[in-house]
Amino acid sequence: MKIVVDKDKCTGCGICKEACPKGAKIWDINEKAMATNLEYCHLCTICAGKCPEQAIQVIRDEGNEKTKND
Ligand code: SF4
Ligand code: SF4
Repeated sequence: MKIVVDKDKCTGCGICKEACPKGAKIWDINEKAMATNLEYCHLCTICAGKCPEQAIQVIRDEGNEKTKND
């Protein structure tokens, strides 16, 4: 999986980090947001939902995992 932040849209507001249950471990806000430690991410997508710029895409691995999410 990966979390992609659109650098053109991101304003560095830090809402994603605040909203994320593991924000302090995962997110690094330094002008632009970067999800640096996805080991702690559980794919809840709260960050993407809270981003006012819709800059975050949470992308699940396909094939790797067979879950009922379609
Ligand atoms: S919430 Fe969105 S705009 Fe704000 S820092 Fe995070 S990715 Fe950037
Ligand atoms: S998907 Fe959830 S756990 Fe992962 S970075 Fe976003 S808010 Fe945090």
